[in-house]
Amino acid sequence: MRHLHKNDVELWEYLEQIAREAADFFSLPLRKLSVLNPRADYSAICYEDGHIKIQLRMTTRKRKAYEIIDAVAHELAHLRHLNHSPDWHAVYVRLVNFLAKDYAWVRRYRKRRG
Ligand SMILES: [Zn+2]
Repeated sequence: MRHLHKNDVELWEYLEQIAREAADFFSLPLRKLSVLNPRADYSAICYEDGHIKIQLRMTTRKRKAYEIIDAVAHELAHLRHLNHSPDWHAVYVRLVNFLAKDYAWVRRYRKRRG
């Protein structure tokens, strides 16, 4: 994958797995997950066709575990509602709770691998 840093390979595999699990659990039409360019102006994006892109690093620093988990939940919720309405927010909160179990893993990985 083009923008995947060598230290993020296992992290990315893990994120793909938990994103798929969450998408299955909430019946969200996730088609593809990609690493977003560290130079992009935004940290994550969701397209109508079910493609989500997540930034793992920015040009100045790596993204923190909570930022990554939050981005996954935020963009997955857009697969249900492509806006920031209260309905979207309700799905987002459920996803944050669902992914809370993965936060510690991502945090440990970040500490270990930089
Ligand atoms: Zn959004």
